Amino acid sequence: MLAGFVSIAGVAGFSTSVRHRQPLRYIKTRWQRFGTVGGMLKSAEESVPVLTEPMLRRLDRPGPRYTSYPTADRFVEAFGAREYAQALAQRAGGASVGGQPPLSIYVHIPFCESVCYYCACNKVITKHHDRATEYLQVLAQEVALNVVVLGQGQAVSQLHLGGGTPTFLSDPELSQLMAMLGQAFKLTPGAEVSIEVDPRTATPERLQHLATLGFNRLSFGVQDFDPDVQLAVHRVQPFESVRDLMLAARRIGFESINADLIYGLPKQTPESFARTVNQVAELRPDRIALYAYAHLPHRFKPQRRIVIEQLPPPDHRVQMLGGAMAGFVSHGYTYIGMDHFALPADSLAVAKRQGRLHRNFQGYSTQPDCDLIALGVSAIGRMGATYSQNAKTLDEYYDAVRNGQFPVVRGLTLNRDDLVRRAVVMALMCQGRVEFESVELAHLIKMRDYFRAELDELAELQTLGLCELQDDAVQVTATGWYFVRAVAMVFDKHLRTDQLRERFSRII
Ligand code: SF4
Repeated sequence: MLAGFVSIAGVAGFSTSVRHRQPLRYIKTRWQRFGTVGGMLKSAEESVPVLTEPMLRRLDRPGPRYTSYPTADRFVEAFGAREYAQALAQRAGGASVGGQPPLSIYVHIPFCESVCYYCACNKVITKHHDRATEYLQVLAQEVALNVVVLGQGQAVSQLHLGGGTPTFLSDPELSQLMAMLGQAFKLTPGAEVSIEVDPRTATPERLQHLATLGFNRLSFGVQDFDPDVQLAVHRVQPFESVRDLMLAARRIGFESINADLIYGLPKQTPESFARTVNQVAELRPDRIALYAYAHLPHRFKPQRRIVIEQLPPPDHRVQMLGGAMAGFVSHGYTYIGMDHFALPADSLAVAKRQGRLHRNFQGYSTQPDCDLIALGVSAIGRMGATYSQNAKTLDEYYDAVRNGQFPVVRGLTLNRDDLVRRAVVMALMCQGRVEFESVELAHLIKMRDYFRAELDELAELQTLGLCELQDDAVQVTATGWYFVRAVAMVFDKHLRTDQLRERFSRII
């Protein structure tokens, strides 16, 4: 439900806050008091330094969230259906000699009954539920196109339904969709089967139905519990209804429950958001994703309905971010990184402790990188050394599939340089460390020669206390883990112009 242009480290306009003393004092007090954020930051009480003005000025830049490298804005139209088919055939060739790990599948359900004003997603607003009938028919055709190349019954270890609003579909439609996918693919034992749930379209009975269909993970779009904020963003869902759904989900026995929150929305204040943080923490979701709202009305039409005067000022955004991080940690959550918190027993927190975090289009994951088949309008997938994106409009998507073509309209074949940089960026984003030897062996380069300019540039971040350049590695520090994408951005070849940087949300 959330697009890639918001992030926990995305306090737009933070440069203003640098001029205000109060927010900096707030961060110092709160983060030092609750400084144990995640295993990586065990000694944060002592080691998290005051966020100095030079540091904040240096970090006040837009940046991507690196759910992929290169990022989706680098995809090109020269990559289309033919290139996707080739990548798929290559995988099929590998699978035929038994050498392919299981697949991941993402299915995009674009429909929503009403628009949330902060929305930056690809969606279709409609109250006509019969539109889902045609969509499911075409989805089945798209699945069939993939199966023709891959063969039936390919193993799948991750299946995720996102949107839009997947729960726009009725119970029988969800059954139909899962049956269709079940005929085409084979879920591995212990597969993660997850769905985004809009609390306004769900009941305990619906959750029970989802469990019956094999879903074992739910993600609730909460955003904020304050009634005034909910009105201001046109998404009214009382705390009690979300609480009842989460309690029902627990009773039913879902393995993992996630809650999405957004700070920086209109009418939010540090005090009101602190109440939301407490309410969410008391509901004990296993995972929490905390995103910063990025106001980009020139790109996302619904955001034009947000009253700009109602947006919180930069210093309030800083207080909300610092307060939320401190609040969740004080409630026993582990800070995973970027946008994510998790209870210590959750598999994501365990993976973090064991250095086994991965990152994909859904954010942090416990599953190693695998090929991702993306189904549905605008969905983004990954196949071997390629990324691909489906058509963004329903008409275009329907036309392609009905003509027997993959609906891919853009994508990218990664070159050797992209692959080297992807390895470095993902190591930083997931482990907070790049071992030179492992990259050198895998990609036959010399890190100090290949990344001479980048390693020089790291010196500045080292001065700020965000990373350490060691003889044989780059190590992100405890403080740097809060700003890890600033370190990753140094290795992003495509982010060299300020013009491009302006396309992303800010780092802090
Ligand atoms: S539910 Fe709201 S935020 Fe999510 S895709 Fe629909 S309009 Fe956008």
